[in-house]
Amino acid sequence: MSNERINVTKPFLPPIGQYIKEIESIWENHWLTHTGPKHTALEESLKSYLKTKNVSLFTNGHMALELAIEALELDGEIITTPFTFASTTYAIMRNGLTPVFCDIEPDTYTIDAEKIESLITEKTSAIVPVHVYGNVCDYKKIAEIAAKYNLKVIYDAAHAFGTFVDGISVAALGDISMFSFHATKVFHTIEGGCLTFDDESLGARLADIRQFGLFGKEDSVLAGTNAKMNEFQAAMGLCNLKHIDDIIKKRKTLDSRYRKNLDGLSGIKLCPEQKHVQSSYSYFPIQVIASEFNMSRDQLSDRLKEENIYTRKYFYPLTSAFKFIADKFNADDTPVAKEIADNILTLPLYFDLQLDDVDRICDILWKCGKTR
Ligand SMILES: *Cc1c(COP(=O)(O)O)cnc(C)c1O
Repeated sequence: MSNERINVTKPFLPPIGQYIKEIESIWENHWLTHTGPKHTALEESLKSYLKTKNVSLFTNGHMALELAIEALELDGEIITTPFTFASTTYAIMRNGLTPVFCDIEPDTYTIDAEKIESLITEKTSAIVPVHVYGNVCDYKKIAEIAAKYNLKVIYDAAHAFGTFVDGISVAALGDISMFSFHATKVFHTIEGGCLTFDDESLGARLADIRQFGLFGKEDSVLAGTNAKMNEFQAAMGLCNLKHIDDIIKKRKTLDSRYRKNLDGLSGIKLCPEQKHVQSSYSYFPIQVIASEFNMSRDQLSDRLKEENIYTRKYFYPLTSAFKFIADKFNADDTPVAKEIADNILTLPLYFDLQLDDVDRICDILWKCGKTR
């Protein structure tokens, strides 16, 4: 079997001719950035693909999330989870707000909605849940709690592009949802991101915040920033969106192969599929239960590296355990999240990955599981 290097991810690229054709008009109109024709076209295409009323584009997903919190004028405390990418926690902190960490569910790794109410105080202004790996949060329970306590809900949907729950697009959940279009995500614009929302007035406010408080104005209306998506990013998005069905289909095939191959391997725990969710197969996480597998997560990751296979401890550590802020939080407050972060490993999954590659990776896992 080949020993070719396999990375945990590899960005999708459309055929180069398609991108060149898409950007040709930029040489005619010299419109390089800020709500140009590509930007407008991508917004329209995304509205239709994500089945949402409003889409605002940003230079990356993180800025989109940070500015969503700003646009809703939140204050005080925000209930969120530590089992996520640094971005979710920092978007809250960079707005001068306090993240309050709620534990996660053992199967979906998303916020444990049953535990939210006990964390609500008079300072709580919002909930920021994460659809981890594209697993959809308990959106019904979250909506119920938000209504009862008058809280806003902003979903970090960076992992859930193209995901539907009970036939509803995840882009339609909460007050705002954020999608990341980073190069390694299921759909990308090299760097980029968007917010989706129902409330039309938010669009104007976001356009101002993202452009120095100066969107179509002479006099600035707020101390905004610069978080605009440029035309080359939008052009990449327009090209990639044409391939999204194939991308998701291929990922589904790879996901099924992993599940079939790893079935019965003791000590390797997979995320159960959510029956009510139409997934876009963003990641393939496994939990390595050392006591049953003969090897720890770290040993397995090192062993795979020796075979030229690069996995990722995603998410590890918890964002509440990053050393420079760890004194502010207690990872023991979220025991489920802590345990999963210690066991989790995401296996390679990307459009160009071959079924043979998945077989090669799984063969190694079986060998590791049986021998020390
Ligand atoms: C990728 C990601 C982000 C940030 O997106 P960028 O586009 O890289 O800024 C935020 N949250 C989660 C969960 C992510 O995976």
